[in-house]
Amino acid sequence: MEETAAAAEGVPVPDARTGVEASTRDGGMSIRQCVDKINKSLDHPKVRFLREHMIDAGCPVWVRLLMPLNCKDQGFAGGYTSGKGIAICCNHMTFQDEINQVLIHELIHAYDDCRAKTINWKNCYHHACSEIRANHLSGDCHYKRELLRGFMKIRGHEQECVKRRALKSVQINPHCSDAAARDAVEAVWDICYNDTYPFERAP
Ligand SMILES: [Zn+2]
Repeated sequence: MEETAAAAEGVPVPDARTGVEASTRDGGMSIRQCVDKINKSLDHPKVRFLREHMIDAGCPVWVRLLMPLNCKDQGFAGGYTSGKGIAICCNHMTFQDEINQVLIHELIHAYDDCRAKTINWKNCYHHACSEIRANHLSGDCHYKRELLRGFMKIRGHEQECVKRRALKSVQINPHCSDAAARDAVEAVWDICYNDTYPFERAP
């Protein structure tokens, strides 16, 4: 059975949004190119791995959850909306690798939503935990990506990067003030950074 992503119609407001930090904001591709690249990323080993685990966790329909969009808001790569799906901001994407990363990151949110049926995206602690996991386990903070963003490779950079990106996403949650976002990321850090499931360990 061939499963492919198709252009979405409704545009939900995401529960969790991922910011663009790459230096490619002037890029952008058509929805058609984007759909092709999303379909390609379905073959990515990590995407396949997460897909298998979503099936095991009882959420097998995830390909229908993929929504290639032209996002009006600047600076967003993608987002996840509980019960609706994963938005990929095609107009902010340039490379296959960026699409792979957004998809993997958002799939970790989808996995968390599926695994913990009681997750509440309005709760800053819940949101912070899923952001820490998504930024850590997706490899968003791999040192090569950090170098491309212009952040120097320094000792401990990976954790700093995960924290920075998680915080940024929780700060734009309308239910979390700046202080609440900071408190939440600190409070859940140890537990959520060390929770690598379904991966055996962080990449
Ligand atoms: Zn996220």
